[in-house]
Amino acid sequence: MTVAWLGIGANLGDARQTLKDAVVCLAQQHTLTVVAKSSLYRTAPIDAGGDDYYNCVVKVETSLDGHALLALCQRVEHHFGRERPFRNAPRTLDIDILLYGNVSIDETDLVVPHPRMTGRAFALVPLVEIDPELVIPGLGPASAFLAAVADQRIEKVKPLCQCMGAAPAPDTPPAGNCR
Ligand code: AMP
Repeated sequence: MTVAWLGIGANLGDARQTLKDAVVCLAQQHTLTVVAKSSLYRTAPIDAGGDDYYNCVVKVETSLDGHALLALCQRVEHHFGRERPFRNAPRTLDIDILLYGNVSIDETDLVVPHPRMTGRAFALVPLVEIDPELVIPGLGPASAFLAAVADQRIEKVKPLCQCMGAAPAPDTPPAGNCR
């Protein structure tokens, strides 16, 4: 099993619902297990026009190799009506492989760590929320890149899911807030 981190975003249609449904869809795959999910964030589009995005990050354990995981992400994107009319077009769903184990991959169709993740608050903030100690292979602690993206607007709209991953804090309300 390999631990991978997926960045999920949407800014077209009912983006918030799509994100929620996409995480459920991923969790139903027999080839991966969603072990942690970040809070839901609303973020300003970066290098793109259109409405604000909704973003989250999930940590998964998967039996798939990197390319098969990419193919799965693209199938899920397609399932939710993803089209690619032009680069950085608004999207019903975008799923990026941010990290795949502790390996670096540099191939035509797959680059991991994701080449733009260190410059994007919508990837870094949810990653560091789930794992403050996370190290990006070849680059160092993810938290070290946060200062450089501090000017990018990102707002938490739904708190960290407490039903997966770390034990809930003592003051966490019971169930019902995780989707
Ligand atoms: P996007 O428009 O962000 O969905 O980009 C999709 C394209 O990026 C596809 O052609 C992928 O093959 C390529 N790609 C390269 N590295 C990655 C990655 N780490 N995660 C997702 N897509 C990737």
